[in-house]
Amino acid sequence: MLRSLIQSLRHALPLLCPGCLQAQRNGALCPVCESYLATIDYPCPSCGAPGSSFEVCGACLKKPPPWDSLHGAWHFEGLSRHLIHQFKYQHNIAAGRALVMLWLAHQTALFKPDAVVAVPMHYRKQQQKGFNQAEWLARQIGAHWSMPQWHGVRRIKATTALEGLDKGQRKQMLSDAFRLTDRPPRSVALVDDVLTSGATAAELTRLLKRNGTQFVSIWILARTPL
Ligand SMILES: [Zn+2]
Ligand SMILES: [Zn+2]
Repeated sequence: MLRSLIQSLRHALPLLCPGCLQAQRNGALCPVCESYLATIDYPCPSCGAPGSSFEVCGACLKKPPPWDSLHGAWHFEGLSRHLIHQFKYQHNIAAGRALVMLWLAHQTALFKPDAVVAVPMHYRKQQQKGFNQAEWLARQIGAHWSMPQWHGVRRIKATTALEGLDKGQRKQMLSDAFRLTDRPPRSVALVDDVLTSGATAAELTRLLKRNGTQFVSIWILARTPL
């Protein structure tokens, strides 16, 4: 009861910076909070690793990821981590909105694929949580750039968190986790909040490419070291 009251108050007061709760126009992050977000500097265009002078890094040259490009704005730490947790687990839409507005402003010369695709959540988990943050982000990005959203992929296996699993266990967990219900577009942007191991994005990319997609770009707010 109290929680839902706080939630509705939060929605009724959209003119606060979600970082420090000081008044801020449009509910954007204030300049001070924005300065606390750890930007990924000079990322590798392939995996998003920092300090690569926008060139493909050594690790990607040796073993390229299955996707074609990756665009993330921040390291998943400090304030970005706090705001993403608020958005993802507390359903704090103001935090999500402030981050996605900034993310869009960061990505000025981005190639726009045929459609945006949210990393799907298993229906049981979504029912339990009431909200898929990737779906919400994909909708905002699609609306902002007038890109259609494609919904032809389902998560048919409920997977637990992949953190702490080794490569083989992750692969096992993700095998047959997704199924296409429609022919995929030729080029897609796969949207998620955070990229951690990259195993989920890799699995989805491979599935899309096996079924005719030729170009996959990963669009994420933040990234942990792969
Ligand atoms: Zn602030
Ligand atoms: Zn790389």
